[in-house]
Amino acid sequence: MKRIAVLTSGGDAPGMNAAIRAVVRTGIGRGMEVYGVEQGYSGLIAGNMRLLGARDVSGIIQTGGTMLGSARSLEFKTEDGRLRALRELNRRDIGGLVVIGGNGSQTGAHALSQLGFPVVGVASTIDNDLYGSDMTIGVDTALNIALEAIDRLKITASSHQRAFMLEVMGRDCGYLALMSGIAGGAEAIVIPERELTPEQVASEIRTAYERGKLHAMIVVAEGAKNNMDELEAFFKVHKERLGFEIRITRLGHVQRGGMPGAFDRLLATRLGAAATRCLAEGQHNVLVGLKQGDIMTTPLVEVVTNKKQLDLSLFDLVADLSR
Ligand code: ATP
Repeated sequence: MKRIAVLTSGGDAPGMNAAIRAVVRTGIGRGMEVYGVEQGYSGLIAGNMRLLGARDVSGIIQTGGTMLGSARSLEFKTEDGRLRALRELNRRDIGGLVVIGGNGSQTGAHALSQLGFPVVGVASTIDNDLYGSDMTIGVDTALNIALEAIDRLKITASSHQRAFMLEVMGRDCGYLALMSGIAGGAEAIVIPERELTPEQVASEIRTAYERGKLHAMIVVAEGAKNNMDELEAFFKVHKERLGFEIRITRLGHVQRGGMPGAFDRLLATRLGAAATRCLAEGQHNVLVGLKQGDIMTTPLVEVVTNKKQLDLSLFDLVADLSR
């Protein structure tokens, strides 16, 4: 395969740039020409792509976001949109595509591969909800940002003997909330996989207050049914149930924007290099991900038909750990 393309799609994740860099430079190292597609699948449909040289990916390994831009494309969800994308790839004689992104992006990658085009996915989403990779690009950095916020909030919470409720990202998956909550010593964690009722959260916080704690921390995943809005409304009416005064913080997109840490740079570099290798060696329609410490491939069809399960053993420790 002499010519390949790379795109980033869905939510940006710190480390995407390191993955682009690895695809471009290892591709060049294998004698390939590598095209960068701007704005994900939208750019693919519009034929918005350019040849990238080794110097075009200089100085990006340490930057968050994605130099290629990302987009959410409704058109790519239609067969017509995908056929237009295919025409653009064929017109330039491109023989393979690397798709760096999360669940939706890999579903798109699988759909393109069903039209007979060779695709390799790179596992990248801060939600860590992608089947086929224990850790995805961006998770570790986002986790550390959430953790720093918890640490800071705990300092002010202790000074005023308050409870803080922090919302972290995670539409369908509580990974970020659970791990940042455990690492930050939260008293209660609310995730879609193990919903706590507002009464249960209030009771955890009340017992912390009665045990003489100076602060309490509740970490809530944005995708939980009992989300921040529900909990806030309940606590407004039942103030006395908590003991503490409560303050609310939504971390929002701050979690996405960080400089990738060492873990994400290394993971992205390994996965990007593996994706180029797969295309060069004729291994197509797979996701490259991290499994038990090794870079492994999983067929895209398995990635899109299976749901990754969150390891809930840590969740069961929350009550003991916050004693
Ligand atoms: P993140 O979880 O980090 O936000 P993601 O890859 O899951 O990333 P999505 O917005 O779900 O992000 O998907 C990105 C793009 O993938 C969509 O805008 C769309 O173009 C494409 N896509 C999603 N689902 C499908 C599908 N069923 N068929 C074809 N393409 C799809």
